[in-house]
Amino acid sequence: MRDISLEHENLTERDKKHLWHPLTQHKVSPEMLPIKKAKGCTLTDEKGNEYIDGISSWYTAVYGHCNPYITEKVAEQMQNLDQVVFSGFTHEPAIALSEALIEILPEGQQKLFFNDNGSTATEIGIKMALQYHHNLGNDRKVMLAFEEGFHGDTFGAMSVSGLSVYNGAFEDHFIRVERIPVPTGENNQEVISILNNILKNHNIAGFIYEPLIQGAAAMKFHDGEGLNEILKICRENEVVLVADEVMTGFGKTGSYFASDYMQEKPDVVCMSKALTAGLLPMGLTSCSQKIYNAFYSNDIAKGLFHGHTYTANPLACAAALAAVQLLRTDEIQTGINRITESNMAFTAKLKDHPKVKNVRSKGVIFAFELAVETERYGGLRNKLFKFFMDNGVFLRPLGNTIYIVPPYVISEEELQKIYSVIEDVLSNF
Ligand SMILES: *Cc1c(COP(=O)(O)O)cnc(C)c1O
Repeated sequence: MRDISLEHENLTERDKKHLWHPLTQHKVSPEMLPIKKAKGCTLTDEKGNEYIDGISSWYTAVYGHCNPYITEKVAEQMQNLDQVVFSGFTHEPAIALSEALIEILPEGQQKLFFNDNGSTATEIGIKMALQYHHNLGNDRKVMLAFEEGFHGDTFGAMSVSGLSVYNGAFEDHFIRVERIPVPTGENNQEVISILNNILKNHNIAGFIYEPLIQGAAAMKFHDGEGLNEILKICRENEVVLVADEVMTGFGKTGSYFASDYMQEKPDVVCMSKALTAGLLPMGLTSCSQKIYNAFYSNDIAKGLFHGHTYTANPLACAAALAAVQLLRTDEIQTGINRITESNMAFTAKLKDHPKVKNVRSKGVIFAFELAVETERYGGLRNKLFKFFMDNGVFLRPLGNTIYIVPPYVISEEELQKIYSVIEDVLSNF
């Protein structure tokens, strides 16, 4: 046990002077912890304390931090081509990445549109759905989304996110969205009838969904058969299917993409986070030939006039290509399978624990709700966070949900350490 509240005076104080952190109310939030080093699955703070990165730094660094294969590929790329305009020019890193990705993307994906992060990946997914119908002359201007979905922080992405409790200042400017509950198995019929009703009464252009697992909604799992039925009905009604795989993509669920578990494949796939292995920021939105064809025209206005300055940055492409190559190795696949099995064994172990609710796992993702009396709920999340950090494990509980998404290269010993600290939580809270 060590105390992380020990002062990190220098950096912490300098941080406070000019920096504004994301998702942070600075008046009530504790000080920021300076991190000096990240290597493999270990984060090291200014004082030399080490923490196992149990969430792969927001689901990005799945091949381990500063992975030597990836850093080497990016360093090589840096010597040759750092950045070039992607409108009118092209380059090998983007081309090689597109070829590698098409091989692992869900069936039917054909074209890739580059962007900068998860929010812009979904923003473009939404634009593709809306403009697809616009170009075809269809009057469809409403998006469909799940309640409690999360798709990012830009305006379109915020609009379709159901978890918009802090978006009061912006709601008047949102695009039009209709919502359905996630299918749980028991409620499938009810969800389908709500869906049919919406399709009858609104001109739905596209459906954006996090397939099988909603990350920001506290790793909420939903029913695959129910989702498949929703996708089927949407497809029959010419609703563009936009899979937001920003969190689930690149192996987290045990398959390359969560959409691999679905019979109905998406028209559009949004990617980021593990795409570049935590090394550089980048997003990608892919689509089927059918979607692309609606934009392909002698009429310039039918094109997708969206472009970020750093589109297809060669360094980010080099990182992503190296990451896809690693993902396909036996070593990484063996790691994913081992973590999957350990998670399943830990799930079985906690199943009947009186303080454990809804324990679940899929691939490297493991989650449960800590069942404590509601009067003990105040500040619970921060206490849990501190307990994990004091014990050398970096996890970010959401409310009373504790979850892990460890790097695929985590050792069994490190993984067991995370489990054992979770068990300590169960006896201490
Ligand atoms: C993180 C996330 C986003 C937003 O990605 P950013 O890179 O943070 O903008 C969108 N969708 C899902 C499912 C996510 O998990």
